[in-house]
Amino acid sequence: MYDKLLSPLDLGFTTLKNRVLMGSMHTMLEEAKHGFERAAAYYAERAKGQVGLIVTGGIAPNPEGSVAPGAAKLDSPKEVEEHRLITEAVHKEGGKICMQILHTGRYAYHPMAVAPSPLKAPIAPFPPKELDAAGIEKQIQDFATCAALAQEAGYDGVEIMGSEGYLINQFIAKKTNKRTDEWGGDYENRIQFPINIVKRVREKVGPNFIIIYRLSMLDLVDEGSTWDEVVILAKEIEKAGATIINTGIGWHEARVPTIGTVVPRGGFAWVTKRLMGEVNIPLIATNRINTPEIAEQVLQEGCSDMVSMARPFLADAFFVQKAIDGKSEEINTCIACNQACLDHTFQGKLTSCLVNPRACHETKLNFTPATQKKKIAVVGAGPAGLASATVLGERGHAVDIFEAESEIGGQFNMAKVIPGKEEYAETIRYYDVMMKKYGVNVHLNHRVTTEELAAGNYDEIIIATGVTPRKVTFEGADHPKVLDYVDVLYRNKPVGNKVAIVGAGGIGFDMAEFLAHNPEEASPSVNTAEYMKEWGVDMAYSKGGALMEAQPAPSPREIYLLKRSSGKHGKNLGKTTGWIHRSSLKMKEVKMMGNVEYQKIDDDGFHIIRDGNPVVLDVDHVVVCAGQEPLREMYEELQAKGLNVHLIGGANVAAELDAKKAINEASYLCAEL
Ligand code: FAD
Ligand code: SF4
Repeated sequence: MYDKLLSPLDLGFTTLKNRVLMGSMHTMLEEAKHGFERAAAYYAERAKGQVGLIVTGGIAPNPEGSVAPGAAKLDSPKEVEEHRLITEAVHKEGGKICMQILHTGRYAYHPMAVAPSPLKAPIAPFPPKELDAAGIEKQIQDFATCAALAQEAGYDGVEIMGSEGYLINQFIAKKTNKRTDEWGGDYENRIQFPINIVKRVREKVGPNFIIIYRLSMLDLVDEGSTWDEVVILAKEIEKAGATIINTGIGWHEARVPTIGTVVPRGGFAWVTKRLMGEVNIPLIATNRINTPEIAEQVLQEGCSDMVSMARPFLADAFFVQKAIDGKSEEINTCIACNQACLDHTFQGKLTSCLVNPRACHETKLNFTPATQKKKIAVVGAGPAGLASATVLGERGHAVDIFEAESEIGGQFNMAKVIPGKEEYAETIRYYDVMMKKYGVNVHLNHRVTTEELAAGNYDEIIIATGVTPRKVTFEGADHPKVLDYVDVLYRNKPVGNKVAIVGAGGIGFDMAEFLAHNPEEASPSVNTAEYMKEWGVDMAYSKGGALMEAQPAPSPREIYLLKRSSGKHGKNLGKTTGWIHRSSLKMKEVKMMGNVEYQKIDDDGFHIIRDGNPVVLDVDHVVVCAGQEPLREMYEELQAKGLNVHLIGGANVAAELDAKKAINEASYLCAEL
């Protein structure tokens, strides 16, 4: 079924069992208490799930190259033992694992940062110290020593992180390398740093050790590499002794989303395809490959020899095994939300996954068969209820799930219609398949009552009834111009050409995105060429960095996004995705207004006071996205009857975009019932 994806890859001295690479992700496990034991369990589960080759999160070759003070590094023999826990656990499951060597250069979050030139990165707090010739030699040596220590720890290879704007990339690009010695100036000089690193690593580790080089094939910053330069570098890296070349897309400071859920599936595979045939070693395509179907397609279309998927292995450790078994519909698909992975990493928190709270918690959260089989009712089939029913069913309980609507999914049915959030439908599909698999009784169109539940002889009742949109109280709140987000996104009520959105939280932002998009046209998030045009990526690669002027499709509506508070719109959105939403609405010329007092709505429009001045917005509709109230009466009533009742998800705390908490609470509760 996935003939190419599941076929072995012969590297000469060793063979990978399939074409799947689990890409590097910094999980913070290595820095956590008992972190290496936990990391070993995390990687071993993915090896058991038949990943062809795993790459660890970035490990620094020295303190100056580390992400932050105290972050994982490997520069002394005493650190080797802990790494051995990981390699032994992976090998026991028949897997292979490479350690990524990551030197952050000027992206470091500490004052020891070093770089080819003393230019502070726009996204980092410290200006780096310029390396002198001896300093450069030390960095190269440290890469080689680190690789040798990784080999001693039992890794099957290393990945040298040469992309994403980290130190090696900083040497390569004119933008960040202003040196006039033999490490700067011409391209030929600027690439000596990576070439020497690969050569020196190969000398240290011998021929039978995998060296993956992650090559920035598309910098997406001004003064980035040209395509010809990318090809030259790839050839030199092959000559220097690399086994495989992996693709890097975009520097961290680039203003083009490269992995967010707005990026089309497989949307950057075309970049790797350009390099196919230029070198003789295997190439790996990356970014937003999240199903076996798209992975197979990337390979079938000749874009690469192998595919890298990272977050999909947080979402489902058994992704490959399920593909092998022909059960891809059972894969818990990564929806590219970043909420529990990258957002956590950037907040210094342990990584996990919104759709799979077991990720990086393999030693803490397990769904073991129930010792006492119970009859359990779950009320509400949103993410919290669906996760509950799935875990309970898997553990062998008899489960009834009640849903008032005609379909499962709860608010995810609204999320999935937002352009750029199409992936959210996959979570609903996954739960649907799992509930069938575990024999959960699904009662649709059934608004269950307290009386029914009390009469149902249930051992446990889980209330996952979610939320109701918060009403506004200003004059004219019942005017026909006023709609709420459910009216628009779920009940398909028509919206005019001029519209004001009340509330600029996550749902307000999503509403603006929805209304700014022409429903007659495919969303750029499902069309690669449109996406590249929208965000200004030049697929013809006419100049270094491959940027061009962005050409977003105009909004079919005039939209005001209003909020009462002052300050930046969307400051509470996801750490790694908020800027994407802001940029997208800016491109669509959505008018963002803060410091607004709402007065009344009448036939003339929406009367507001802005910065102390009365204004009437002549709008056809006002869409209210002013927060949510929990639906929890049933919980209180059942509790009063003395029944075993549990409250989870939005019904517990209504917090707009918080499916992470909903699924997490459900999973921990149901692991114990
Ligand atoms: P809900 O999803 O609200 O589900 C509750 C279910 O219970 C409903 O289906 C309801 O019909 C049913 N129900 C209620 N009472 C009864 C009854 N008596 N009998 C039977 N059934 C009943 N979250 C994120 O984390 N990330 C996002 O990107 C994101 N995007 C969103 C975009 C939009 C447009 C919206 C509206 C929400 C978004 N969310 C997002 C929020 C997320 O969907 C919620 O946090 C999540 O759905 C809460 O899950 P829940 O199961 O607690 O409640
Ligand atoms: Fe994917 Fe979201 Fe899970 Fe991260 S948190 S792995 S982006 S589903």
